[in-house]
Amino acid sequence: MSNLPDEVIWTLTNTDDWGGGLERTYRAENVEHAGCGGDVLLVHLHDEMGAISGAHSRCAKCGEDLTA
Ligand SMILES: [Zn+2]
Repeated sequence: MSNLPDEVIWTLTNTDDWGGGLERTYRAENVEHAGCGGDVLLVHLHDEMGAISGAHSRCAKCGEDLTA
């Protein structure tokens, strides 16, 4: 179960090349982790063709997995 609202505004904060594609990190502008008040991050992994191959969400402060 996700504790994130439906309308989250994400801002791209970081792009890394992990070797097989790009990893893009987004930060939620209008949401914080209810548990500790930390920033909520969304990480998208892209394959070499640019398609999203994985996504997960976590708290930047306490590291809790917030993936829906
Ligand atoms: Zn947290």
